[in-house]
Amino acid sequence: MDDCDVLIVGAGQAGLAAGYHLRESGLRTVIVDGADRVGASWRSRWDSLRLFTPARYAGLPGMRFPGPPEAYPGKDEVAEYLAEYAAARFALPVRLGTAVTDLRRDGAGGYVAITANGVLQAGQVVVATGPFGAPYVRAAGGRPESGCATDAQLGLPERGSCCRA
Ligand SMILES: Cc1cc2nc3c(=O)[nH]c(=O)nc-3n(C[C@H](O)[C@H](O)[C@H](O)COP(=O)(O)OP(=O)(O)OC[C@H]3O[C@@H](n4cnc5c(N)ncnc54)[C@H](O)[C@@H]3O)c2cc1C
Repeated sequence: MDDCDVLIVGAGQAGLAAGYHLRESGLRTVIVDGADRVGASWRSRWDSLRLFTPARYAGLPGMRFPGPPEAYPGKDEVAEYLAEYAAARFALPVRLGTAVTDLRRDGAGGYVAITANGVLQAGQVVVATGPFGAPYVRAAGGRPESGCATDAQLGLPERGSCCRA
């Protein structure tokens, strides 16, 4: 069993930024990610995707996003930036291919994480697994055959259907 002060689950923007600050503060930190590359969630998105936020707001602590500050980076540029941030620039302790499948208290104030590559024990855990890993369709009081909800089903004043099949 391996151990650390803080285990970060997820090596996306949130996990990497947390890892940067925690390591700066001297804590033994391990970042695990189920993917086989940093930035994998961006690489797997559609080719034409660009950030809706300009580069000046896309940088993580300690490293500005490259290129013109007002440009809107493409999804592969984001992935490359994250990989560069994690490995080359800061050598953050990222363990790839290490999905966490179970996380529980250890009975001594810490946590035990079961991963695809063994068991990790940590004093604290940061869950940074992101909000977009699994599709979520909210309940809207019943769904019509077309898959489109009407205003009435959404509890809105009647204007006709919100989209047409
Ligand atoms: C299509 C799209 C476009 C977007 N455009 C913008 C934008 O222009 N500007 C903006 O500010 N935000 C944008 N966002 C929001 C963006 O996703 C977040 O700002 C940011 O990427 C979230 O970072 P994160 O680290 O929280 O999650 P993620 O980047 O999703 O990272 C989560 C990581 O956790 C890993 N993980 C998940 N489960 C486990 C597990 N059980 N064990 C181990 N690892 C695990 C995943 O492999 C992944 O690497 C966009 C989102 C989407 C979906």
